[in-house]
Amino acid sequence: MPLFNQRHQQALIARQQQGLYRQLQCHNVNSHELNFASNDYLGLAQEPIIITAWQQGLAKYGAGSTASPLVTGFQTPHADLEQQLTEWLGYQRALLFNSGFSANQAVLFTLLQAQDQLFQDKLNHASLIEAGMLSPAKMKRFVHNDMAALQQQLSKIKVGIDTASLVVTEGVFSMDGDCAPLALLREITTQHQTWLMVDDAHGCGVLGDTGQGSCHQAGIKADILIITFGKAFGIQGAAVLCSQDTAEYLVQFARHYIYSTAMPPAQAVALRHACSLIQTQSWRREKLHALSESLNHHLDNSLGLIPTITPIKPMIIGDSCQTMAIAAQLQQRGIKVGAIRPPTVAPHSARLRITLTANHNEDDIRQLAKAINEVIDVG
Ligand SMILES: *Cc1c(COP(=O)(O)O)cnc(C)c1O
Repeated sequence: MPLFNQRHQQALIARQQQGLYRQLQCHNVNSHELNFASNDYLGLAQEPIIITAWQQGLAKYGAGSTASPLVTGFQTPHADLEQQLTEWLGYQRALLFNSGFSANQAVLFTLLQAQDQLFQDKLNHASLIEAGMLSPAKMKRFVHNDMAALQQQLSKIKVGIDTASLVVTEGVFSMDGDCAPLALLREITTQHQTWLMVDDAHGCGVLGDTGQGSCHQAGIKADILIITFGKAFGIQGAAVLCSQDTAEYLVQFARHYIYSTAMPPAQAVALRHACSLIQTQSWRREKLHALSESLNHHLDNSLGLIPTITPIKPMIIGDSCQTMAIAAQLQQRGIKVGAIRPPTVAPHSARLRITLTANHNEDDIRQLAKAINEVIDVG
């Protein structure tokens, strides 16, 4: 038997035995299932204004962008979206990417050189950790949100004319829903003359008075800000916000940017509308707060839901099989919640990841809380 076959079979059997086997399920958006597993925090994925904008963009610009940005892929809708983002978020430039995963890889691969030092929160997204490991720089990970640990690492930086250092954190952590201590991080990084990069995939749209995200809420500016469009924007794609020079440097040297087809212009049109709605419809953020309080109120206190100011509500179960069993029981009652296991989270910290969206209502929350109270009581 060829080695690949053998290897695959062994790995799949091991996954199954560990209770970590992942199964693709076709999700039907039109089903009556109550969905508490999506990242569509503001409920924009089904927003008619955005769907119509995308359709009109298709009629005007065609189905695809036809090439990478430096060839013919960068068009008026892309330029307009970039400008809208820079004005909203307060940066000189915004560069569009097809996904947050590729934006993170592009930035870390392009910025860092062999003599550089990279510091990452241990709970950073897989795209960041992987990019850091594959980058030529030396990477250190610090204990989640532990500023003393970071300062200790930074105090050992070898200062040289050729050495640059970069600290990378998420604004809102995706599997815990908690926030980075950004004000302190900004202070520490400035003090040590390192750059601060914030991946605000889960904060942008949700935090800040017009949804500008975690940094705005904390009153700081990161040197590099990553936002993604697959979460609160309800669509897909990402942007890197940075200075004029950094943007030009990325355009010259970031292979994920140079050698990848630009997003369809119609998608950029849809994103412009999403960006406007995020800024003007603050009722969506207010509703998330109300739903969040309601969930805290209705859920049995003893179940250990971790309170957060974000729509991400983790409930740590610990055991992977038990977590899957609870999620399955909830699904039988027509309720979908995220069941997150290692290696996405640390060993023995499998959890339900409940996410709220502005499309939920009070009754949905009551149903969710009732189902969880019953299922976990029985289980
Ligand atoms: C989802 C996510 C990404 C990846 O973004 P995609 O656009 O889905 O590829 C990157 N970073 C964080 C923190 C995320 O949550």
